[in-house]
Amino acid sequence: MALITPAVKGTKDILPSRSGAVRFLETLLLELAAGFGFKEIRTPVFEYTELFTRGVGETTDVVTKEMYTFDDKGGRSLTLKPEGTAGAVRAFLEHGLFNETLPQKVSYVTSCYRYEKPQAGRYREFNQFGVECLGAAAPAADAEMISLAQSVFDFLGVSRIRLELNSIGCPSCRKQYTAALLAYFGSKTSELCSSCGERLGKNPMRILDCKSPVCSAVALQAPVMLDYLCGECREHFEGVRRYLEAMDIAYTVNPRIVRGLDYYTRTVFEFVSGEIGAQGTVCGGGRYDGLVEELGGPSMPSLGFAMGLERLMLVLDKQNIRLPSPGGCAVYIASVGGEASLKAAQTAYSLRAQGIAAEFDLAGRSLKAQMKYAGKIGAAYTAVIGEEELKTGSAALKRMADGFEIPVALGDFAQKLSLLLADDALSGAAQAVAAFGPGQGDPRVIFKAFSGEETH
Ligand code: ATP
Ligand code: MG
Repeated sequence: MALITPAVKGTKDILPSRSGAVRFLETLLLELAAGFGFKEIRTPVFEYTELFTRGVGETTDVVTKEMYTFDDKGGRSLTLKPEGTAGAVRAFLEHGLFNETLPQKVSYVTSCYRYEKPQAGRYREFNQFGVECLGAAAPAADAEMISLAQSVFDFLGVSRIRLELNSIGCPSCRKQYTAALLAYFGSKTSELCSSCGERLGKNPMRILDCKSPVCSAVALQAPVMLDYLCGECREHFEGVRRYLEAMDIAYTVNPRIVRGLDYYTRTVFEFVSGEIGAQGTVCGGGRYDGLVEELGGPSMPSLGFAMGLERLMLVLDKQNIRLPSPGGCAVYIASVGGEASLKAAQTAYSLRAQGIAAEFDLAGRSLKAQMKYAGKIGAAYTAVIGEEELKTGSAALKRMADGFEIPVALGDFAQKLSLLLADDALSGAAQAVAAFGPGQGDPRVIFKAFSGEETH
């Protein structure tokens, strides 16, 4: 085979063997968020570049190095979304949602694009589950946000993931801190990488987020924001901690977390796994009290987080947590001869219309080869239509797991199969397909309904 081109570096295909688990996960996340009052928002994959330069921050790595920016045929500068917050806030402002009851809570699962060095847990196209809570100033909102991320891990049965918490203050207390950082790093310029040399003049806090081991080592001794918090920021941070303690959510304070986006204020947090290599941050978020205003809206304290789905899946794999997958073939209708093939097609079509996943021969194969195919696709039941069955209008339904057989009139297949499937493990998958779709219920039900079939 001479493939003309492989997939673009840093992108991945999700093959059918895994897509069911991925879809399950995405639905589960949105459903869990719905239980916390977050409703899904969908925004475009690309936006005007300015939204991200303003929203994410001119001095961030994302904006200076990682964006997929291009001019469209009309000469407008567009950028593929590197993260979900800026687009969600833009939509919130553009549609006047700030005039509605506040806070407004939105959730999304979206692909993101960053020109980064591909490695385990770091891709150029990746997916984020994110939530934003707009118009909520109280520490309770920060704690609720964190508790949603925590409940994702709890629900999936993920252990050994630590919550790290910090406060990076507000623009007013940060002034003094920035001066302290300038003094500290200014005395160490010869040890810093060339990018950090530039960061020093523009935004010294960014040095704390530098991935170079040398700069990280220098940063270890740097002053920490927690020592510079103003009274209000300190009170807010203490409030968040009190709520977390009331909810019994374990955390450690890590004064070195600053996060990679410029818009954060006060609370920042990460959920970190030690099991998936160097890119251990599965979820990152915090408060961004200045962003809505920065993007042209009213002053509106807000916050959010984003969870990398690929990194979450890496953790699930490492911890051997299997996600259920919907689907599976309920019945394979084999046939012998042209007329029987027509009957098989008609029967399968009618079964499918009644919600039963049916398959029949599409390759003109022998009966033996058809049965082999039915085995390979994991059909729960099979039936063979031949001359005899055409004459009697009835065929034997055979359960593949144990060879149990029962003659059934072709017209009664749907009814009989429904009853049989309801008794079998596969009934779970069938119900799950019916239950599938955001807003259709408790994730626990979906999880249980799926649990008949496991692939991951
Ligand atoms: P990192 O420090 O790993 O570069 P970040 O600070 O750039 O992360 P955010 O912008 O806060 O990350 O994104 C939130 C989450 O999205 C991250 O915690 C991670 O799980 C995921 N993520 C970010 N960049 C990538 C990427 N290139 N590939 C896969 N997942 C990513
Ligand atoms: Mg990054």
